[in-house]
Amino acid sequence: MSTKTEYEKPIPLKNGDNQPYWDAADQHELKLQKCAACRSFIHPPGPACPTCGNPETEWELLGSDISATVYSYVVSYRPFLPGFQHDLPTIITVASLDAAPEVKLMANIINCDAKTVKIGMPLKMTWVDITEDRALPQWVSAKE
Ligand SMILES: [Zn+2]
Repeated sequence: MSTKTEYEKPIPLKNGDNQPYWDAADQHELKLQKCAACRSFIHPPGPACPTCGNPETEWELLGSDISATVYSYVVSYRPFLPGFQHDLPTIITVASLDAAPEVKLMANIINCDAKTVKIGMPLKMTWVDITEDRALPQWVSAKE
């Protein structure tokens, strides 16, 4: 038996590398991994710094007021996976964080007309509660 209110899309798995990122997302906050040696941000999270190779990393809380700009995007008119058929077209974007432009964060832009999306468009991060204890970072237009 299934109910229509059940979340149908894949739920991101937490692992040893990304757990602090997703734990913060569940609290509607952005936390990024940072290299303890060269201080570069590491995103997506990983076992070592891709800039200098140092395996010692730490986490920096950036909070819940996150602004960014569209670095690149695609508009999908077909669902890649079950559950996305209700959200078409899907605007999948790579956004450059205003606080750290070298960090590129991929997520969908929601509540937005796909025809209005442009590279350089200002965005704000929002979090969608997908289950009782999980939340997904997404982007919304910051133009309004
Ligand atoms: Zn490093």
